[in-house]
Amino acid sequence: MNSAQRDVDSQIADGNELIARALTRTGTTKVVSFGYGVARDFGPLITAQHGNTPVVFVADENTWSVAYEAITEAVRTSGLAQAEPIILPANPRPYANIELVNRVRELLETRTDTLPIAVGSGTINDAVKLAAHQLSRPYWVVGTAPSMDGYTAAGASISKDGFKQNIPCAAPVGVVMDLDILETAPQIMWASGFGDMIGKISALADWRVADALGVESIDSDIWDMSARSVVAALADPAGVGNRDRSALPSLTVGLLMSGLAIQAYNSSRPGSGAEHMFSHLWEMEHVGLDYDPPLSHGAKVGVGSVLVAAFYDRLLELDLTEISIPTLLEQWPPLEAALAEADRLHGDSPLKNVAHSQLPKKYPDRELLQSQLETAVNIWEDLKVELRELMRPASEIRDNLLAARAYDHPSQFQLSQEQIITDFLRLRTSRDRYTSFDLAAETGVLPGIIDSLLGPNGTLETWEARELK
Ligand SMILES: [Zn+2]
Repeated sequence: MNSAQRDVDSQIADGNELIARALTRTGTTKVVSFGYGVARDFGPLITAQHGNTPVVFVADENTWSVAYEAITEAVRTSGLAQAEPIILPANPRPYANIELVNRVRELLETRTDTLPIAVGSGTINDAVKLAAHQLSRPYWVVGTAPSMDGYTAAGASISKDGFKQNIPCAAPVGVVMDLDILETAPQIMWASGFGDMIGKISALADWRVADALGVESIDSDIWDMSARSVVAALADPAGVGNRDRSALPSLTVGLLMSGLAIQAYNSSRPGSGAEHMFSHLWEMEHVGLDYDPPLSHGAKVGVGSVLVAAFYDRLLELDLTEISIPTLLEQWPPLEAALAEADRLHGDSPLKNVAHSQLPKKYPDRELLQSQLETAVNIWEDLKVELRELMRPASEIRDNLLAARAYDHPSQFQLSQEQIITDFLRLRTSRDRYTSFDLAAETGVLPGIIDSLLGPNGTLETWEARELK
C-alpha cells in the first residue's frame, strides 16, 4: 500500500470514528455509511432500521446517472422492493423552492408506504427532506457531491414567498456518502464544500464570543467534534482545487460532522456565525442566481468568511478595555430607534421586516448592556488572545479559497463597495444569533472597523480581485 492510499484510509478511519461519536448524540440520524463503494451495499442498513420496506429513489437526471448503478444493485442484492424512481429533468436545473417540494411530495404520495431516498446534493436533498417530513415519512439520502453540510442537518433551505428560508423538518435517518460517487462531482462543488467548511472557523469563534459574553454557552463535546473535523477538512486546499482523490475524505467528513453537530445541538450555532449571515443576505437578495451554475451556498459562505476574517483582524487589534461604559450606555439607542435604522438599511430588500422579529431577541436594554460591557472589559485581554488563535487572518482564508479554486472576493459577486458597507451595517439585524458583530456594535467600534476595511484606503481596496483559474 503506498503512502497516499494509507493517508486516504486513515482519513476514512478517523472520520468514521468521529461520526460514530456524533451519532451517539443525534436524535434522528442513526446511520452514516461513509467510504469507498458503500452505496453498493447499504440495503441491509435500510432493513435494520425499517424492515422490508419498499424504497423510492428521488434524483435528477445528472445525479441518477452517477449513482443508479450502485444503488439499484444495493436494492436488488438485499431483496428490497423498489417503486418506480422519481427522476427530475436536469434542465432546467431543479431549484429548491416550495413548488419543487410540492411536486416531489405529490409524486411520493403516488408511491404509498415507500421509504424516500434522495439521490443528490443540496437541492434534491432539501426538497425530499421537506416533502418526506410533510408526509410524516422517514427518509434517507445518498450524497452525490461534497458541496455543503446539509446532508446530516435538520431543516431544509427552501425558497418560499420569494425568499430563501430554513424550514424546520427532520434530518435523514440514514446518510450514504460513497466516495466513488462523490469523486465524480464537478470541481466547483468541491470548492463549494470547502467554502462552507472555511465558514466554520468564524462560526466557532463567534460561538466563543457569545459564550464569553454570557449569551450562549459552549457545549464542549460538540465544540471539540466540530473543531477537529474543521481542521482536517481544510488541510489540503490545493488538493480540493485539483480535485485530488486524497483531499476528498476529510472534506466530506467535515461536512458530515458539521451537519451532525447542528442536529445534535438542535441549532445551527456550531456551524453558522456571521459569515453565514452574509451568505444569507446574499441568498435572500438573489445574488448570483443568474450565474451558470447559480452561486452556491458554499461560495457565498466562503466570501462571507473572508469579510468576517478581515473584520476580526481589525477587532483583535483594538483595546476594548479602553471603552467608556457611561458614554456607550448614554448613546445606546432604544430598540425602536435601532429597528427604524435597520428598516432604513434593508430598504426594499426581502429582508425589510426581518429585524422586527430577530433583533428584539438579542437587543440588550441598558442594564443588560452595562453588564455585557463590563464583562467585555474584564475578559478582553484573554479573549483577544484566544480568538486570535481560533481565527485565521483574512489573507490566509483568501489564499486557501484561491488554492481551492473557490470565490474569495466580493467583487466576484458584482457587489459594490456601498453595498458591502450596508451589508456590514445591517448584518446583525438579520438574525437573532449573537456574534462578534454584536460585540463590536455594543462596544461602539463597529463603524470604525467598517471604515478601516471599506473606507478610503481601506483594507479591501488593497485586495486585488483575482480571476478563478
Ligand atoms: Zn453552510
